Amino acid sequence: MAKPTFMVQQYPWLIKYFASRNPIHLLVMVLPLLVYLLNTAVAGALPVTSWIVMLGLGVFWWTFLEYAIHRWAYHSRYPFKWMHALMGSFHLYHHVDMSDRRVYNAGFLMVYFIAPVVMAPMWLVTGSLAMTAAFGLGILGAYYAYEWVHYLLHYKIYGGGYLGWIQRYHLYHHERRPDKNFGNSNALWDLLLGTHDPAHKTFTVSAKAEATMISKQGAKA
Ligand SMILES: [Zn+2]
Ligand SMILES: [Zn+2]
Repeated sequence: MAKPTFMVQQYPWLIKYFASRNPIHLLVMVLPLLVYLLNTAVAGALPVTSWIVMLGLGVFWWTFLEYAIHRWAYHSRYPFKWMHALMGSFHLYHHVDMSDRRVYNAGFLMVYFIAPVVMAPMWLVTGSLAMTAAFGLGILGAYYAYEWVHYLLHYKIYGGGYLGWIQRYHLYHHERRPDKNFGNSNALWDLLLGTHDPAHKTFTVSAKAEATMISKQGAKA
């Protein structure tokens, strides 16, 4: 069977907008959004408890979004070829070519498009722009940590600890079961929603996957 071609391969300039080669590049591009949210939340003079609750809820909400986007948007089967070519560019291409470091992180346009949508529920519930902004900061903080985790687990092989564990978890998803273990920073929603495969615990990363690590790619941009 011929390998699928994704839109990002046909139009490589799209990578600039929909992917990032590392989390620092991404942070620079989304800084205006962060400054706006911080300014809005601070201007609302929220009590400390509201800050804590909103940031905490934002982090928790992200853990679900991370799972939901990966499982139901990136790994969905799309009825039309063009849809598959477009949506596959966001993640399935990363499955096909793990050595292309240009797509290890999401692009800034994705953040600008998705942030208002995922923050909207808090606006609907509280009607407060300041609380919604604090909630958004929680989401973005957890999201940014997730981008670093994904970057680092494609950086080099880790023996143990959190990075060693999440690396086997994610690379098991890559190499063996793309229909399991959708969490990229935690296993919570896989456990709750029946997609957790414990075989990642005894999984050994293949030499082929190891060869794709950033640390093995030399100075390639
Ligand atoms: Zn990956
Ligand atoms: Zn995947």
